Amino acid sequence: MSISQFDTHEIFNQPRPFEDVNLFEGDIGLRDAVTREGAASHAAELDAFGSQIGTSEIFELGRQANVHKPDLNTLDRIGQRSDTVEFHPAYHDLMRLSIKAGIHAQSFEEGAGIGTAVARGAKHFMMSQVESGHICPITMTHAVIPTLKIQPSIAETWLPKVLTREYDESFRPMTEKSGVTLGMGMTEAQGGTDVRSNTTRAGPVGDGGPGQAYHIHGHKWFMSAPMCDAFLILAQAAGGLSVFLVPRFKPSGEVNAIHFMRLKDKLGNSSNASSEVQFHDAYGELIGEEGRGIANIMVMANLTRIDCALGSAGLMRQALAQAVNHARGRRVYQKTLVDQPAMTAVLADLALESEAATALAIRLTGAHDRQATSEREAAYLRLMTPVIKYWVTKRGPGFSYEAMEVFGGNGYVETGMMGRIYRDMPVNAIWEGSGTVMCLDVLRVLARDPDAARLVMEEFAELKGVNPDYDTMLAKVADDLAHASEATCRRLTEDLAKLAAAAIFLKSGPDFVAEAYIASRLTGRSGDCYGTLPEGIDTRALVERALPI
Ligand SMILES: Cc1cc2nc3c(=O)[nH]c(=O)nc-3n(C[C@H](O)[C@H](O)[C@H](O)COP(=O)(O)OP(=O)(O)OC[C@H]3O[C@@H](n4cnc5c(N)ncnc54)[C@H](O)[C@@H]3O)c2cc1C
Repeated sequence: MSISQFDTHEIFNQPRPFEDVNLFEGDIGLRDAVTREGAASHAAELDAFGSQIGTSEIFELGRQANVHKPDLNTLDRIGQRSDTVEFHPAYHDLMRLSIKAGIHAQSFEEGAGIGTAVARGAKHFMMSQVESGHICPITMTHAVIPTLKIQPSIAETWLPKVLTREYDESFRPMTEKSGVTLGMGMTEAQGGTDVRSNTTRAGPVGDGGPGQAYHIHGHKWFMSAPMCDAFLILAQAAGGLSVFLVPRFKPSGEVNAIHFMRLKDKLGNSSNASSEVQFHDAYGELIGEEGRGIANIMVMANLTRIDCALGSAGLMRQALAQAVNHARGRRVYQKTLVDQPAMTAVLADLALESEAATALAIRLTGAHDRQATSEREAAYLRLMTPVIKYWVTKRGPGFSYEAMEVFGGNGYVETGMMGRIYRDMPVNAIWEGSGTVMCLDVLRVLARDPDAARLVMEEFAELKGVNPDYDTMLAKVADDLAHASEATCRRLTEDLAKLAAAAIFLKSGPDFVAEAYIASRLTGRSGDCYGTLPEGIDTRALVERALPI
């Protein structure tokens, strides 16, 4: 197709944009993962959502929400504190869409059965492809729910407003709103990973104790989505580090003393506001017992870590789909790019990586669904959440760069999506426990909970005897588990992730994906960059599977 608008030249050989697509129907890897993890009954719901958000109009909302960054109003017209953030309407539209779809709460809705967490995860994965910044408060709202439940008096008040599918962006007390969103603040300037170094203090207003009012005094160096209606805040109480629910409005209806100092000027994640904040004896309510802060907030962090993997896997999928679409529509030296063997090899390698990321992230949502009924699934969740969070989010940045290069120069400019995907990738690895912290977490699980590794390895061992390279890696990981140390924990975590992906493909197929994945990822026979798969792999079949025509 050619479009002539100038008398200087004709515009041709430019692929159609990848939009007006169904993000579920067109993604075989996602569909297979959803079925494998027991959510086939949600296929129609996911198909409708994939079609709804794959339109050019919704992709355009994603662009607008990032081009028009949020603005902080610290003071109002006459110099009084305002502490509000203004977003572009596109951001609110995306929030509304995600909340309508239940990405913020579906796993915890009444009647949520087996498959619900998987379906919700698949929606998160798809929405991350369209716009990943607004997903931050959506993820936090979802993840905060189990921590709220620790304190029934707080849960009774807040959960009815969380569990609606209504988005209400107004700045009002929660009692006047149709729906609320929730954030969290753990990270202080002197330490994010080491939350024990938190200096923010909490003192009781009256007798103190679970559910009671406290004054919170201190700061957080990162607190994203400051227009949420309440935040889980870690602060030092007399009994030790504790978690508090700190709302934007006090029960009296007055604005709470939460002062935003600055919004971060970030590499990416531009539609999302991330603030530096001070609490000036702000009103908060204690969740659970004093001193249980880390344990109670970890309930939340384990869920946000799954979402980091879903988010990066979604971004990888979008980068891949964009790249394959481009290569199918672009000719170089009179031949379509996708058919040029050196390019087919790159795309096939990316396709393998993307499908593995999808399979692993959705596998975690399946484990979340089944943890209450299966000891092995609960073990999988404990050991493999840090493994998969580490691996998938680490693979994202390099992946998005390679997909960008498929576009040549057009990949590097801001008129397309590739630059945004590239900038949005690294944050999923950094927040909610940075890479090394995840690997140390794996060591912690191994030390405290040896049964978790035993049960997970039992699952992997069930596939022994099918593929010799898989068997070799299985034996290596079993051996390494016995000698795990801080110095080697990254290598062990990587191998566990690759073994887990190989196990999924070996068990469920298709065989050519399993064989290609094992040959290229478990043997050392691939090169260091994408496009270096060992000989004998059907690269065309991998690309066809990645984006059926
Ligand atoms: C865009 C964005 C939004 C964010 N939003 C929020 C939010 O809403 N709420 C919130 O609470 N936080 C938020 N954060 C903060 C984020 O969670 C922290 O930055 C992160 O946890 C790391 O903490 P830190 O920055 O203090 O780094 P540090 O804790 O100083 O870590 C620095 C490095 O040391 C490594 N490391 C840590 N411990 C060890 C060890 N024992 N051995 C070896 N290496 C180690 C880490 O892996 C990391 O690479 C956000 C961050 C970003 C970038």
